[in-house]
Order: sequence, then structure tokens, then C-alpha cells
Amino acid sequence: MAIIFDAHNHCFPPMGSGDLDVRVPETQYHVRHAWSRFMRRGDNVPLSEPVLFGDGDGFSWQPDVQFRFGRFGQVELTHNGDDYFFQLVPASLFDSSAPPEFTIAQMDFAGVDRAVLQHDRIYGRLDDYLGECVKRYSDRLVALAQVDEWVGGEPEQLERLRRQVEDLGFSGLYFPTEGFFHTDFRTHVNSSELEPLWELVGELGIPIHWHAVSLRRPRLEMYLKEIEEFTTWGRAHPDIPSVLTHGLENLRIDIGGSARFTVPREIRELLDLPNWHLELMLHKMAFDHEFPPYHPEIPNVVRTLVDDIGAEKLMWGSDMPSCEEVVTYRQSQLLWRTGCDFLTDNERDGILGGNLARLYPLKG
Ligand SMILES: [Zn+2]
Repeated sequence: MAIIFDAHNHCFPPMGSGDLDVRVPETQYHVRHAWSRFMRRGDNVPLSEPVLFGDGDGFSWQPDVQFRFGRFGQVELTHNGDDYFFQLVPASLFDSSAPPEFTIAQMDFAGVDRAVLQHDRIYGRLDDYLGECVKRYSDRLVALAQVDEWVGGEPEQLERLRRQVEDLGFSGLYFPTEGFFHTDFRTHVNSSELEPLWELVGELGIPIHWHAVSLRRPRLEMYLKEIEEFTTWGRAHPDIPSVLTHGLENLRIDIGGSARFTVPREIRELLDLPNWHLELMLHKMAFDHEFPPYHPEIPNVVRTLVDDIGAEKLMWGSDMPSCEEVVTYRQSQLLWRTGCDFLTDNERDGILGGNLARLYPLKG
């Protein structure tokens, strides 16, 4: 039977615990574009001003709104003396955690054999935590390592990456460009000081999963500019297998835009590079539809991707447990199991897991 292999899942301890001094500002930046979905505590009136934007994009301009982690998957801020909350992960995560036993139970219920754990900093610096997850469930879970991207070429970060891969059993690197907010985006993926990191990645023989998530304004323009920077990087580092995650972000940025349901030229050029793959999390990109797996425009987007990029480069990702803000884990597979009637059985199997299994064959 074909393998079902999720390119995007998470395990994490309670979000309001751990290294909060750095994670609170990082998480505040992460949700800045979601400001209008913060609700006033008590009467659910939405926040009416973009209080999460400063004059510029980056740490130096981050406004003080007493940002904090709340309970039941929420984050909170205070504005004009009122408390506002935003549902960052589903309210059903009662202590805002996703321990590995929970993730495995979700996978069993949804018929998922294996999953890649993306190591995003909003969930923590989880080297040891995720190391334990993959030790316990080595046949089910694959963990991606994390570095502090903005200083990723420095010896301490190189040592950290080496430890995660060689000692703790991590299999790839997760690289979100959001980290560059710490240097107000003076650093970027093609900065020469990051070259030692790419050399080490090459030596370790691991793939990189990229997230274009600088969240600068104007958002769509800056997203596509980042994709072009990835293309420049990819041409300079052709031997490192890469996955563009959270595809296609332009669908959720460009809500209401006439080109929303298209594949941007920049993404087609990037995926033209032989070693690049695309994670598709389309259920979350069509979150504003009443049932995203049946969105009438999405199959056309998939057909374009299959024709222009090739089905063998596409990989379904759920973003569990966050996925459940829009659909269940099972429903996040519907588009690939029964939708898109132009797909062959081979193409469906590849997108649902076979393509990812080629990057991460089961060890031993
Ligand atoms: Zn995620």
C-alpha cells in the first residue's frame, strides 16, 4: 500500500512555557498580519487598528502591546486598557501543547504513516524535545533541525545543527526567513556570513525546508521577492535538496485579488530548479471558504502545478495541529484522495507521501 507521509506536522510542549523572553517577541511578529482577528475579551469585538505594525518591519519597530501567551491555544495583547485574544492554535489544545503521543494518535486516526516535524520557533527551541520524539517514534516521525537563522553561520549555531543531526537524530533543517527580523532584515538567505551554514548542511547531507515568511510590507510583493532570493540561493547551491513549505502563500495573502488562484512566475522559476520540491497546504490557504477541500478554484491551481512543475515535486502538508482551525486531519487529505480528477493514482500516491519518502527513506 502507498505510504501516507505528511510534510508538515508539529510536536511541542505547552506554548506558554520555556524561553519566553525571545519567543514572545518572535510570536508577536509572527501574527502581525492577523491583527484584525484579535477579539476583545468579554464581547468579541475585533481589534480595529493595526496595533502590531510599527513604522518599519523588524525588531527595532516592534510595538509594545504587552503581548503574551494565554490559555487554550490563545495569544493576548492589551490595547487602550482592553485585553484582546487571538486563537493561534486550536482551542482544543487545552494546555497549548502537542506531545508526541497525541501526534501519533492523530496520525493513526487519520491513516498517516509518517510525518515531518517542522521546528518553528513559535513552538520553541525544541532540540532536545524533538530529539526525544524521533528517538521514540523513529519509524513515524522525522524532525527538522533549527538554528537562529540571523546568526546561522556562527560557530555556536553550526555546533547546534551538528548536534541535532549527529547526536539527536534530526534529518533536515527548517529555515524560516522570519528569523531575520532580529537584524531588521539586514541579513538574508544570500548573505555571505551564512555560507558556513550551507557548507555544513552539504556535509551533513540533509535537505532544507524553507519558509518565505519575512512578513514585511507590502506582503505579497515581499513574499515573491523572497522566492526570487531562494532561486538565487538554489542556483548557487544546486546539490542541497530543498522544499518550499507552506505552499502557496500567495493564495492566503492575496485574498480578493484577481490573481489569487494562480501560480506566480517566481514560484514556477524556483521549482524549475531540479532539487526543489513544493509542500502544498492548500486547505489552509483557502481558509476563508466554507469547506476548503471543495474550493472550486483550487483544482485549477493544482493542474497548473502538475503541468508546469510536475506531480513528482509536490508534497501534501497538513500543519497539524493548527490544521484543525480549518479542517480535520483526514479532511486535509481529501483534495488528494478524491479531488482533482485529472490526477493519476500514481500522482496521488506521490503527493500524499511517495515523493517525500524519497527524501526521507526509512533508516535501517
Ligand atoms: Zn506549521
